[in-house]
Amino acid sequence: MAAQMSGQPVYILQEGAQRFTGKDARRMNIMAAKVIAEAIKSTLGPRGMDKMLLDGSGNAVITNDGAAILKEVEVKHPSAKMMVEVAKTVEKEAGDGTTTAVILAGELLKRAENLLDLDVHATVISKGYRLAGEEALKILETQSIPLKPDDTEILIKIAYTALNSKAPGITAKDHLAKLSVDAVKMVGKKIDGSIKVDKDDIKIQKQVGESTKDSELISGVVIDKERVHNSMPKTVENARILLLNSELKIKKSETDAKLDITSPEQLKSFLDGEEETIKQMVEDIKKTGANCLFCKKDIDDTAGYFLSKEGILAVKSISEKDMKLIAKATGAKVTTSTADISKDDLGRPCRVEERKVGTNSFIFITGCENPDAVTLFIRGGTEHVVDEVERSLDDSISVVKDVIEEGRIIPGGGASMIALSKGIQDFANKVSGREQLAVIEFAKSMEVIPKTLAENAGLDPIDVIIKLHLEHEKGNTSYGIDVSTGKSKDMFELGVIEPLKVRTQSIRSAVEVAIMIMRIDDVIAAKGAMDSEE
Ligand code: ADP
Ligand code: MG
Repeated sequence: MAAQMSGQPVYILQEGAQRFTGKDARRMNIMAAKVIAEAIKSTLGPRGMDKMLLDGSGNAVITNDGAAILKEVEVKHPSAKMMVEVAKTVEKEAGDGTTTAVILAGELLKRAENLLDLDVHATVISKGYRLAGEEALKILETQSIPLKPDDTEILIKIAYTALNSKAPGITAKDHLAKLSVDAVKMVGKKIDGSIKVDKDDIKIQKQVGESTKDSELISGVVIDKERVHNSMPKTVENARILLLNSELKIKKSETDAKLDITSPEQLKSFLDGEEETIKQMVEDIKKTGANCLFCKKDIDDTAGYFLSKEGILAVKSISEKDMKLIAKATGAKVTTSTADISKDDLGRPCRVEERKVGTNSFIFITGCENPDAVTLFIRGGTEHVVDEVERSLDDSISVVKDVIEEGRIIPGGGASMIALSKGIQDFANKVSGREQLAVIEFAKSMEVIPKTLAENAGLDPIDVIIKLHLEHEKGNTSYGIDVSTGKSKDMFELGVIEPLKVRTQSIRSAVEVAIMIMRIDDVIAAKGAMDSEE
């Protein structure tokens, strides 16, 4: 593309670049976003279906998790990518509600498109959506009720709701819900009167075998490793752990030893020297009183031999993450060299044990007073099961964290969305100008969630929406759809409960991306950029 300036052509776009403007650009972007929303619609809610995703080499992932699906599929279209980003943002901020956010964004865009067709300008729609979005957050706040962090019974129901809408085939969900609540409670910390939870303090360790109900919460850390040497103790009762970041190894590798060794004697004396160094290191470790060593780097056979002679249980090649978790669980400091270690670096007394679970050996670090890190040890019949349990637990841990931190809950099963639809419809009357049209469309968009829940459960969506609106008109604002019976019910009573935070985050992100995509009216694409629109 070239423009003329004082007779000289000025090249603005690269050769082969494509440009779409106005309606074409919008239509294209909205279409791509709608495709993404449509693709994951069938996974919403407890009666949602699973999807099987195959990667290039034929590995299959079977999941019902919207965010996981979007993470796995490669989308090339830029506005489809923006939708995938929404799922990721919601996942990061609230940990649940990702499918909802994407479906809402798709619906908002679909309805925006209708308005665009009626020649309502994108700026007007954006403004209306923004106003409605702000109103939505206010309505949610008033619909929500407080929950005390020690109300374990309700917390379990919240965890169950999150688990239940994932992994439909997984059994023992009540057990998993309880484990999630216990885990979050154990790592939660009181800071300035409120409770903070770091999800990273909960490790999820999987092992195929047994069944899901055999999954356990371990108060401490479990790592997927074994002892360095067979003659080391398998169990250390009064364990004092040293965490070491450097290696325990003879430096004889060809690459880093530039030695002039000409005779076997010379080699021997060199190796003896190196052995002395290792011996000294082990001495230093012993001197601190440590009887367990967790090393981030390598421990070679010689070092392993000396350590086992001292009765020290040692484990090598520990990941950075696990090193941090052991530090949190036991209070041990991560040291960088055996040259300057002391008793003060050791963890509080605990129990370390190598235990065989199924076909694998694990190191269990338990029994420490007030551990700041715990492990959910997941069992299940197949790899697919343990993987899906892991994804589901991530959601249930998140919702418990959200509620414990924010302290507010709302009814699930589409109840809050009907309340929003009604509330925003009322609000529309107060909005003047053409923005009112956008606010009305926004209000209708909210119904897509109960509609989809109904559809996925094989119910008639229109009937369901009418029934729910009738209840809400009567003032029964926590009435949502019970997908197992098709009846409208009080969701608080039914125990289908969600954190306020999940809902506000899904709405916020959906509105943001819908506005962003709608406002683009010019797409300039380099050659090849738009070729693939999966
Ligand atoms: P998301 O990724 O948005 O969390 P889910 O597939 O987890 O999507 O579905 C969440 C939706 O399912 C929420 O609207 C929640 O209220 C609803 N839900 C969960 N359990 C039930 C139930 N037993 N009855 C009706 N709706 C439910
Ligand atoms: Mg969910």
